[in-house]
Amino acid sequence: MGTITEPRRFAKHGADCLHPLLETMSRDQLAQVQLDRLRKVLRNAWDHVPWQRERIEAAGLHPESVAGLDELRRLPFMVKDDLRAHYPFGLFARPKSRLARVHASSGTTGKPTVVGYTEGDLGRWADLMARSLYGAGARRGDLVHNAYGYGLFTGGLGAHQGAERLGCPVVPMSGGGTERQVALIVDFGARVLCATPSYALAIAEAAEAQGIDLRCSELAVGMFGAEPWSAALREQIEARIGLKAYDVYGLSEIMGPGVACECECRNGLHGWEDHFLFEVIDPDTGAPLPDGQAGELVITTLTKEALPMLRYRTRDITRIARGRCDCGRTHLRLLRVTGRNDDMLIIRGVNVYPSQIEAVLVGRPGLAPHYQLVVEREGALDRLRIEVEAEPGVDAASFDALARDVAHHVKSMIGLTADVLVRPSCGLPRSQGKAVRVRDLRPKGA
Ligand SMILES: [Zn+2]
Repeated sequence: MGTITEPRRFAKHGADCLHPLLETMSRDQLAQVQLDRLRKVLRNAWDHVPWQRERIEAAGLHPESVAGLDELRRLPFMVKDDLRAHYPFGLFARPKSRLARVHASSGTTGKPTVVGYTEGDLGRWADLMARSLYGAGARRGDLVHNAYGYGLFTGGLGAHQGAERLGCPVVPMSGGGTERQVALIVDFGARVLCATPSYALAIAEAAEAQGIDLRCSELAVGMFGAEPWSAALREQIEARIGLKAYDVYGLSEIMGPGVACECECRNGLHGWEDHFLFEVIDPDTGAPLPDGQAGELVITTLTKEALPMLRYRTRDITRIARGRCDCGRTHLRLLRVTGRNDDMLIIRGVNVYPSQIEAVLVGRPGLAPHYQLVVEREGALDRLRIEVEAEPGVDAASFDALARDVAHHVKSMIGLTADVLVRPSCGLPRSQGKAVRVRDLRPKGA
């Protein structure tokens, strides 16, 4: 991996950024960079991906004649199935021999979605992940304990190369072996922890079970992503591990982790607009939504060589804020991703995201932050069952009262009637990567 110049303060704005000139450029400059790069990425797709060229032509666009960013709206969206339909390399703009790496989704149903990177793509990814880590407070020389899964999943290597680019020694742990993770965090003196939020919690729990107080460790920064999580879960993790937890966002189809990340202000995730064009649309009609309104996030890659993605529907629900952040960065903010469109449950006509229920459960006295939602159909009616663990040491005689309390709060805060089952401590499976929060047992297609 390459080296970076030492970060310096950007005197004009006082912003402490890894790439001050890029992260604090004016909105006008950003728009100009985006337009230049949009033409280039359209040219790349036009020249090298026949399917893309057809789409661009059919939309009445031509790479060099695009006069404004809004013109891109004429192009239809891309979806995950487009990648599957061209499995494995049909949408790549570079031949296999010119790629530096391939990742893929595990794909529980059907073919996996395959993504690829040139050497240049990997370098830009490392830069953006390094920029994200720096924004969250990681500094050159900090030991990074990386508990994201390595392998086809982009999390592990994505965080790894970003940390290396920043000049941090990395411990490439991957997920699993949770007790050993605790020992190495303490013995090696890790300052930064990268993991999914649910796995960070599993690490906290394993430490507590061994009588180890991670709050006394050197951990100071947590980079948590790959699954939506609530503010309540953030508080839990911070209180139990004794670090400041930051949300990092990314997806393999676009790049991997580091597409967007919180800064120290934590009022949204800065989406790196010099490399991506962000839109929010109405998920039902596809119409663009104004800033501030919640909808589905759509991303166009502006600098990807191997796999240019034009107007990709992420299925993630968010809102965009373009106002200036106190940190001095000018890039827009994605107000925390509340959930995946795919995760949204419709139960008896009520739309609910698992993270909304999580917000009710986590931090409630007597309950541990481990839960699972089970949706079943009885006759014509959907039933939601919330299974949640009691904290260690809570008397089983109080489980019923705890369950009634949760049901009451879910009803009053979300408007849903749910059966609540409080389970003894450690009665639910622990994730070692992305947590499985929902078991939807309703018949498919009904
Ligand atoms: Zn900021």
